[in-house]
Order: sequence, then C-alpha cells, then structure tokens
Amino acid sequence: MDYTLSIDESVRPGTLYVVATPIGNLGDISARAVHVLHGVDHIAAEDTRHSARLLAHLGITTALSSVHEHNERARSAAILGWLGEGKSVALISDAGTPMISDPGYPLVNAAVATGLPVVVVPGPTALVTALCASGLPTDRFVFEGFLPARGGPRRQRLQALARLDVTRVFYEAPHRIVAALGDMVDVLGGERRASVARELTKRHESLYHGSLAELHEKFSAPGAERRGEFVICVAGASAPPLDRIEIETDTLLEKLLGILPLRQAVDTAAGISGLRRNALYQRALELSGDTPASE
Ligand code: SAM
Repeated sequence: MDYTLSIDESVRPGTLYVVATPIGNLGDISARAVHVLHGVDHIAAEDTRHSARLLAHLGITTALSSVHEHNERARSAAILGWLGEGKSVALISDAGTPMISDPGYPLVNAAVATGLPVVVVPGPTALVTALCASGLPTDRFVFEGFLPARGGPRRQRLQALARLDVTRVFYEAPHRIVAALGDMVDVLGGERRASVARELTKRHESLYHGSLAELHEKFSAPGAERRGEFVICVAGASAPPLDRIEIETDTLLEKLLGILPLRQAVDTAAGISGLRRNALYQRALELSGDTPASE
C-alpha cells in the first residue's frame, strides 16, 4: 500500500471539496479535512450555526453559507457560479459524510456534469461505523437510509427488501425506533439477527446485538433508553436449507411443461407442491397458450 501524506497540498481553485466531519467525536476530524476547511474560499454547510461551533473549535474562520434540503437547488446554482469564477468551495453536513442521508447530491451531480473538479476528503459516516460493529456480514450490504415515517409505507418498503440475502442498514429517528423494530419483526420475522447502534463515537455509545424480537422487546421496555441517534443493521434472508426448496408455481410448471406432456407435468407439479390438481391444470393451460378447458 502506497500512502501519500499530502495534507499541506494547496487547495485548488475552482474545485468542490466534499469533506466528511465527525459523527459525534471531534477527534475523528482528519488533518486533511482541517487543512481543506482552512484553505477554501467558502464552506457550504447544512446548518451554519451548527457548523460554526465545529469550525470555531478548529480555529477555522472561512466564510460559511447554507445549503440545506429546502434551498439546495437554488444554492447549488450559486455555488456552481463561484466554482466557475475559480473559487474553491467545501461542502460539509451537520455530521459525517455529506450526501449520505444529507444534502449535496444535486450540487455534486451538477459539478460532475459541468466538468468541474470534485475532490472528496473521506471520513466518518454512521452507516459504515454501525455496519462494522454489527457482527453481521459486511461483504455485501444495502444502505436504505431512513425508512418511511408512516407505518403503511414503512412495511411496504420492508416487504420489498424481505428476500434480499444481504445485510441491510437503516438510519432511524429516536421516536420511531420501537415502531420500526416492530414492523421489522412483523415483516422480516422475529428470528432475524440484527444490531442497534446508539450514539456512535460519543460518550454514551451503546451497541445491542440479538434477534429482531429481542431488540424490539428491549427498546419497548419501560425505562429503555430511546434518546439519541440510531442505526439498525439487519441480517439478510438466509438461503433456504438444502432439504427445503422454494419455487414459484409458474416456474415449476414452466420447467415441467418444457420436458413433459401437459397432464404429466400437472400431475408431477401437484405431487411436488401439494397444490390442487385442477388449479394447476388451468394454470398450465394458460402458460402453454391453450385456452382453459374443463377436464
Ligand atoms: N451524513 C451522516 C452520515 O454520514 O452518517 C448521516 C446524517 S443523517 C441526517 C442522521 C442520521 O444518521 C441519524 O438519525 C442516525 O440514524 C445516523 N447517525 C448519525 N450520527 C450517528 C451516531 N453518532 N450514532 C448513531 N447514528 C448516527
């Protein structure tokens, strides 16, 4: 591995820097992040008052302007203008990596489309921190950000993810942690392995591992600590055991119709699946393009 220590490189004009900041522990700011935030002409921050505290702590006096979810399209146009004039701009969010459940995508998308240089100064993000502490497989995962706030759409989204065989990572607000875990139990099954990470990198960091049912019970209990910031990681659906297979009825019929006459295919499908022969016969006729007929 070749490392480059180039924190004293000069900040380049006309460049958009995407700079990660801590998710709770100030010690996680990188030397390069500090260098870039010192050197750029402008810092575009999600909440200027919040970021002003971080910057004051780091002794950084660079001009700050706001880019948040309600003004980001309009602000992006102004920032692209500054970049076009040769100014350098750093984008930061309230915590962690910008654009990870945070503003910044329209700006970076437009900068890339316009051919303006974009440099990312990587650093903390809650999703990777929680995933690495979850004890769940990290080789493949999906990041789902925040689930919908309302129960119906939230369960629908979980349903859409139910069969995925990879770890999934969710951000969740403290006042929805119990409802979200409850819906996960209902939709994904209480046995599924999961973890809840709370207040990562902060003084009261806590990690909980167990089945979804256990975690739901833990956070539903009277007196449970439900304040703070949360990431939920859930194991992927496991492959069916070797002595059990799952197959769609249509797929089974199609495979059998490819090698057997219709009646024999229907008898075999009924024998394998235990489904009613009549229903399978009607479906086999439809699949083979014949008009349904009574036997
Ligand atoms: N951009 C951030 C990142 O890179 O992780 C995420 C911003 S998003 C608006 C805020 C959510 O991230 C929180 O509601 C929580 O789900 C998660 N999060 C951020 N910091 C966290 C922390 N220290 N511990 C646990 N979760 C955290």
